[in-house]
Amino acid sequence: MFSSLKGKILFFITLIMGITAIAILFFTYRDVGQAMLLSEQSSARNVLELVELNIKGGYNKLLADKFDMVMGLNRRLKSIAGICSSVFQENFQLASQKTMSVKEAQERSLHWVSTVRFQKGHVFVFDQDGKVLSHPDSHLTGTSIASLRDMKGRRIAEVMNVKTLKEAGQSAVFFWKEKRTGIIEKKLGYFVPFKEWSWTLCAIIGFDEIETENKKKLQNIIKVLKRTFEKIRIGETGYAFLFDGKKTVIIPPHSKKTVDYSILRNERSGNLLLDDLMLAVNSKDKSLRYVEFGPKGMHQIEAHVTYFKALDWYIVVAVPVTEIQAPAKALVTRQSIIITTIFLGSLGLAFFLVTRTSRPLKMLASYAKQLPSTDFTAVDEETSPIDELPQKFKDEVGRLAESFVFMKSELKKNIQELVETTAAKERIKKEAAEAANRAKSEFLANMSHELRTPLNHIIGFTELVLDDHFGTLNPEQREYLSDVLNSSKHLLSLINDILDLSKVEAGKLELELSEVHLQTLLNSSLKMVKEKSLKHGIGLKTAIDGIPETVRIDERKMKQILYNLLSNAVKFTPDGGQVVLSARTTEGVVRAGKRWEDSREMKIVEHLVEEKRYFKDAEENICDCLEISVSDTGIGIAPEDQSRIFNAFEQVDSSVSRRYQGTGLGLSLTKKLVELHGGKIWVESEGLEKGSTFRFIIPVYPVH
Ligand code: ADP
Repeated sequence: MFSSLKGKILFFITLIMGITAIAILFFTYRDVGQAMLLSEQSSARNVLELVELNIKGGYNKLLADKFDMVMGLNRRLKSIAGICSSVFQENFQLASQKTMSVKEAQERSLHWVSTVRFQKGHVFVFDQDGKVLSHPDSHLTGTSIASLRDMKGRRIAEVMNVKTLKEAGQSAVFFWKEKRTGIIEKKLGYFVPFKEWSWTLCAIIGFDEIETENKKKLQNIIKVLKRTFEKIRIGETGYAFLFDGKKTVIIPPHSKKTVDYSILRNERSGNLLLDDLMLAVNSKDKSLRYVEFGPKGMHQIEAHVTYFKALDWYIVVAVPVTEIQAPAKALVTRQSIIITTIFLGSLGLAFFLVTRTSRPLKMLASYAKQLPSTDFTAVDEETSPIDELPQKFKDEVGRLAESFVFMKSELKKNIQELVETTAAKERIKKEAAEAANRAKSEFLANMSHELRTPLNHIIGFTELVLDDHFGTLNPEQREYLSDVLNSSKHLLSLINDILDLSKVEAGKLELELSEVHLQTLLNSSLKMVKEKSLKHGIGLKTAIDGIPETVRIDERKMKQILYNLLSNAVKFTPDGGQVVLSARTTEGVVRAGKRWEDSREMKIVEHLVEEKRYFKDAEENICDCLEISVSDTGIGIAPEDQSRIFNAFEQVDSSVSRRYQGTGLGLSLTKKLVELHGGKIWVESEGLEKGSTFRFIIPVYPVH
C-alpha cells in the first residue's frame, strides 16, 4: 500500500478523516450527550418546580381562605366582646348612679356573660391576676389561666392583661385543654379590656370548623395535583409522586399504583426509599439515584426531590436513567451514521480523485519501465499514450510528461543517428570482409584446382609405373614409388578438404539430395576405417536403433562427415581401444531447441519453413531428426578445448598432431557440412584419457 504515492495519499486521507470522525464522535458523545443529559435533568427539575409552584399556589389559596375565615370570626368575636363590654358598661353606670351596688353590678354582669352563646362559642372573663371570674362552665370559674399560652408562646394572662391590652382589644390563637375531657382544642379568642373593673373579656370560639374546611380544601388541592401528576411525562416511563413527613404516600406514581412506596426499599442502599429521598432533599443537587425492580429487571432511577415545608410534603419526580440518556444515545447513533456515511463517501471520492490524478503518473512510470525495450530504430512513428499528456494536464504532471516526450524524441534521434552510422560502418566492413574472404576462397579454390590437376597426373603416372608392365622395378624402387603414391594421395585429400572448405565459405557448396539407403551408407563409412582399426586392434561397433530405411540426404557429404569422425576416433584411440558408431531417430525442436543455440538456427528454420511439410507439428516446429554419434575410448578432450576444435586449423596440441598427424581441417569441414544439412554437431568428453563422443543431429527429409 505504501509503495505507491496513491496508496500513501489515500492512507493519509483515511487517517486524517478517521481521526476527525473519531474526534467528532467522541466530542459529540461527550458534550452533546452531556448537554442532553443536563437538559433532561433540568426538564425533570422544571417539572418538579412547576409541581411545587402548583402546590404553593393551592396552599396560598388555602391560607388566604383560612385567613378570610379567621378574620370573619375575629370580627364576630370582636363585636360579641364589644356587646358584652357595653353590657358591663351599663351595669357599671347603674352602680355609679348608686342604682345598685358595685358588687351587684359586677355579679349581674358576670352572670349575664356566662349565658352568652353563639355558634360553638362563648365568653369568659378573667381579672388582672389571670383568675377566671366567669365561664359558661361553672367548674372553671375561679381557676387560673396562668398556664395558657398563645401560638406565639406568650402567656395569655400577661399579654391580654387589662394593663397591657389595647383599648380596641386583640385576638389570639391558643390551645385550650378541656379539663374534664382532657382534649386540647385550638381556639380563637378576642380579648377586650374592661378597665373600670380591671377585667378582660374574651369571646372564644373553636377552630374545628376552620380546620375541617381547611382539610376539605386540601383534599381538593390533592385531587387537582393527582390529575396533574397523571399528566406528567418525563422520558418514556418517568413519573411523579408525593409523600409527607410521616412517610404516607399521598399521591402514588400513576403508572405504579400497585406498588406500595411506603415500604419500598432502595436496592442500592438497602434503606427505605422514602427515607433516602427525605435525606436527598438536603443534598447539593437534591437528587438521588436508586435501583428499582421493574418488569425488565433491575434499572436505575434518577429522582429529583423537593420539600414543601408548610405542608410537610415531599414531591418526587423520577425517571429511569436509560431514558434520560436515550435521546443523547439516539443523537450520537444518528450522528455516527451520518459521519460514517460522509466518511465513506468522502473516501470513495478521494479514491476516485487520487486514482484520476495518479493515472498519468502511473502511465509515465510504466512508460519509463518499457523505455529500455523500445525499438528506437523503427522508422515508423509510433504514438505513445504519454504524447497527449502535456496537452491534457497543465500542471506539474503535464510538465513531467513534456520532459518525458522530449527525452523520448532526443533518445530516438540520437539512437537512430548512432545506428545509421554504425550500420553504415558495419556494412562497409562486412562487404570488405566478404570480398576479401571471397577472394581468398576463390584463390584457394583456384589454387586447389590447379594443384589437383598435376597431382592427379603424378598419382596416375605413379600408379602406372607401379603396375610395372615391363617388370623392371626392383623392390627398393617399388617402395619409393609406393611412398610417392601415398604422399600424393594424402596431399590430394588435403587439397580436397581445402577445396571443400573454401567452397563452403564462398557459399558455393550446395546440398545434392538423393534417396540414400541409410544402413548401406553407415556400413560403407565403417569400411573406410576398417583396415586401419584392424591394424591397431581397435574394435569397431555399431548401435543402430530404429532409423528410417531411406532418407533424402547428400550422400557424398554425409560419407565425408562420417569418415572424418570415424578416422579421428580410430586415430586418437590407442591400440586395443574401441569405437562405436550409433544412430537413432529423435525429435528436434528446430526453432527453440536446446541444442540449436547458435546463429545457424535461423538458417535451419528458414530452410525447414520452406519445407514445411517435414514438420510433425508446424506450430511448434517439431520434426524428426537423425542423431548419429561416434564414440571412442581414446585420449579424450579437455572441456576448455571442446569448442575450439571445430575451428579451421585448430588442434588441441600441436605436439599431438605431430604424433597423430593431421591438419586441423577435418572437424571444421565436418561442422560446416552438418550445418549445411540444417543440423548441429558437438563433442562430449569428460576430459583427457576418458574418451570422446562426437554427436550430430540433422533433420531428416523423408522420402515421399
Ligand atoms: P586433425 O585430426 O586433422 O588434426 P581435426 O579437425 O579432424 O584435425 O581435429 C582437430 C583436433 O581435434 C585434433 O587435432 C585433435 O586434437 C582433436 N580431436 C579430433 N577428434 C578427436 C578424438 N576422437 N579424440 C581426441 N581428440 C580428437
